[in-house]
Amino acid sequence: MVLTNRSPCDATRTSLAPSDQRVFGHVARRARWLVSLRESSEAHVRALVKETAGPGFTLRDVPRPVIRDDEVLIKVRRAGVCGTDVHIYDWDAWAQGRCRPPFTVGHEFAGDVVQVGSLVNDVREGDRVTAEGHIVCGRCHLCRTGNAHVCPNTRIIGVDRDGCFADYIAMPTSNVWHLDDAVSYEVGGIHDPMGNAFHTALVGTEISGKTVLVTGCGPIGIFAVGICKAAGASRIIASDVNQTRLELARAMGAHDAVTPQDAEQAVKAATNGLGVDVVLEMSGVPSAIHQAFALVRVGGRVQMLGIPAKPMEVNFATEIIFKGITVYGVVGRRMYDTWIQMTQFLRSGQFDPTPVITHRFPLEQFDDAIAAIKGGAAGKVVFEIS
Ligand code: NAD
Ligand code: ZN
Repeated sequence: MVLTNRSPCDATRTSLAPSDQRVFGHVARRARWLVSLRESSEAHVRALVKETAGPGFTLRDVPRPVIRDDEVLIKVRRAGVCGTDVHIYDWDAWAQGRCRPPFTVGHEFAGDVVQVGSLVNDVREGDRVTAEGHIVCGRCHLCRTGNAHVCPNTRIIGVDRDGCFADYIAMPTSNVWHLDDAVSYEVGGIHDPMGNAFHTALVGTEISGKTVLVTGCGPIGIFAVGICKAAGASRIIASDVNQTRLELARAMGAHDAVTPQDAEQAVKAATNGLGVDVVLEMSGVPSAIHQAFALVRVGGRVQMLGIPAKPMEVNFATEIIFKGITVYGVVGRRMYDTWIQMTQFLRSGQFDPTPVITHRFPLEQFDDAIAAIKGGAAGKVVFEIS
């Protein structure tokens, strides 16, 4: 999941003034949604809905999603809860600028295929699956050059269209990813954030034998620690301000798990004062971003996943240019190189993400799930839906 404002909303394609487009677009969508709700007397299912432009979610009965010919209907078993869901729950400035209620929230999930459209030929009823939540156009310059993860026409489930905190979700078959029998629904349900970590750790750099600093041990940072361990990093230093999360990082294989104040000392000790080969910036906190540039070695690489809440100042000359470093911006998961890597790491048994999952809730306890994330000490939080 990525917090950008790239996807055009439906209203921008009309000829109304922008303020009118927003009002009419919203009213029309809400009216269509309410009509469909009344008309469909059968097959009502549960969904966690962002009903209006304000804080909170509502668990309610909605019509079972109807699939298009190129889509499949998936019965959701497990779903991961993410910081983006918290932004939408709180209805912060980003959510207000991006989301158009009403819609079903949630973008990380796994479940069983229960219905397939007439054009679908490689997914069958009964298949155990997860899915890439970024739905791309497949036609643009980026999609056609193997860079679909930055497709400007991306629409995200649970943000731009109905998501997965529900009994059922309709997904384009192009985005469906089969799970190995040995992969649980729970692990299937966190492929999205795990994929963010795989993308950040493994793109454009060789981790084997390298020294790595992971700044920020939220769920994605902790996954990244485990991935670097599995990929053969010679030394993994993880930093966070939260001791519970540092414990999780240690459990996933960090050699040093330290506060930001102690990170410089740990890096110097581990690298003879040189600096680490690679930094995975997983916090989005400006002081940690500066520390990433400071503690990477000359000629090293900084992979940036964390999203700063607002613009920040960077001294390009001293922090980047004269250090001769490479900076890589991570968006979501590469389609589908990241998914293939993730499946192979899981299949081999060399990477096990389950210690990162610390909280499990039924859908009804959505307030508690959001509170667990806001508490700041949880690892991954998941809904057990069916
Ligand atoms: P999170 O907020 O749970 O994790 C951030 C961690 O950074 C927290 O544990 C926090 O305690 C820690 N932290 C705070 N100050 C720090 C400091 N000075 N030094 C080191 N650590 C510090 O988030 P998450 O779900 O793990 O996601 C990580 C980041 O990645 C977030 O910024 C999120 O918005 C972003 N993200 C980006 C993408 C993408 O595609 N680029 C996708 C998903 C998430
Ligand atoms: Zn595209």
